[in-house]
Amino acid sequence: MVLPITKYGDPILRQKGKHIEKITPEILRLIDDMFETMDAARGIGLAAQQVGLALQLAIVDITGIEDRPSTLELHGKPAVVEEHMPLVLINPQIKPLGDPVAGPEGCLSFPEMYGEISRSDSIEVKALNHKGEHIQFRCGGLLARAIQHENDHLQGILFIDRMLRSDKIKLQEELDELQVKTKAALTKKKP
Ligand code: ZN
Repeated sequence: MVLPITKYGDPILRQKGKHIEKITPEILRLIDDMFETMDAARGIGLAAQQVGLALQLAIVDITGIEDRPSTLELHGKPAVVEEHMPLVLINPQIKPLGDPVAGPEGCLSFPEMYGEISRSDSIEVKALNHKGEHIQFRCGGLLARAIQHENDHLQGILFIDRMLRSDKIKLQEELDELQVKTKAALTKKKP
């Protein structure tokens, strides 16, 4: 089922996700719904907060993106990125490895807004997958950027918090408008 994507101004986006203790049928259903939602929105990543749940759960799929390369390393050996997509990351832990590099980013919770964000060029990731198995890998490029973006969501951090000041100033008016619109829609929804 395609779920509504929470937009900037919804307080859920500022909530830190709860640790997932057990992968229940409800969690598996949520993961399926998140994939449907992300595919429908043509995104490359989605965090649970973006579908209204503050949990340590995010998905990433960079399949088919050729203009922005990614690297993957499993057990110290290079691996083919697309063979390991999509990724389900439960309770992830991220360690930055490389130098920070600036690159363009967008976010499904901020439609049509983009900015330059500085993030570590490569990272080490530890997480559980949807089967509850421990996964560990290193990655770089767009994949590392996407995972850091999603991991931020799980901590209640948004890409505008890391955006270049000059980019954020340019977006300020749009940001304020979106926030007001989201808050108005939320008030209306309440009984
Ligand atoms: Zn986002």
